Amino acid sequence: MKIVRYETPSKQIEFGALDAAGKVFKLRGDIFDKPEITTEPAQVAKLLAPLAPIAILGIGLNYKKHAEESGAKIPEYPVLFAKGLNTVQNPDDPIQIPTFMKSDEVDYECELAVVIGKKCKNVSRNDALKNVLGYMCANDVSARDWQIKRGGGQWCRGKFFDTFAPLGPCLVTADEIPYPNSLAIKTVLNGETVQDWNTNDMIFDVPAIIEFLSASTTLLPGTVILTGTPHGVGMGQKPPRWLKPGDTVTIEIEKIGKLTNPVSLES
Ligand code: MG
Repeated sequence: MKIVRYETPSKQIEFGALDAAGKVFKLRGDIFDKPEITTEPAQVAKLLAPLAPIAILGIGLNYKKHAEESGAKIPEYPVLFAKGLNTVQNPDDPIQIPTFMKSDEVDYECELAVVIGKKCKNVSRNDALKNVLGYMCANDVSARDWQIKRGGGQWCRGKFFDTFAPLGPCLVTADEIPYPNSLAIKTVLNGETVQDWNTNDMIFDVPAIIEFLSASTTLLPGTVILTGTPHGVGMGQKPPRWLKPGDTVTIEIEKIGKLTNPVSLES
């Protein structure tokens, strides 16, 4: 099932299921507890991020060729950082370049987002995927100046600005993606493909990430895990290519869809 969240013309927030023809039907019940698709067409005035996460965890340097382009060693353990709930952005709404705390180095990162569906702890890699509700496209937008030069030795400042985690366009339930580490993933910037790779290049695959993050640590339903980006980020290009107002960024993942956001200045 492809779950979408949307606002109706009367500003109600509802969940629906997107069918193969692009039509949306209302869902009945909790998305974490086997929701049912109704025959009632949804009144979609505006598409929202497919869920309101309760936490956003990120894994850095998780693709071999991206670690190389960043001049970093292949990590021995997954590199964990967090993004605030303020970072969530809807499909088609703008990624805002910070101006109050100015950044000149805002970058895109296409990522497979994993949504945890069940409360879990100390999960083995063999059981890991049983705890996944589904998958989304994500853009782990990163202000490199505040991540690296002025980040105080860790990455959160540069990854924590408002609108820096677009999610969508839908949440594809895990039954439709039994092998999350065999999906084509790309970023298209102003019509030009700038990242184009496959989730099979992850250093730590999705089961390994869940095993690591759940160790001595409870993961709650609604936790979103960003699983890292392949090579081709703006920072790795010569010269570097930073996002600017007027740009359009699309993240596309096989079996999920396309997540598009324009870029503007902070409003
Ligand atoms: Mg990332």
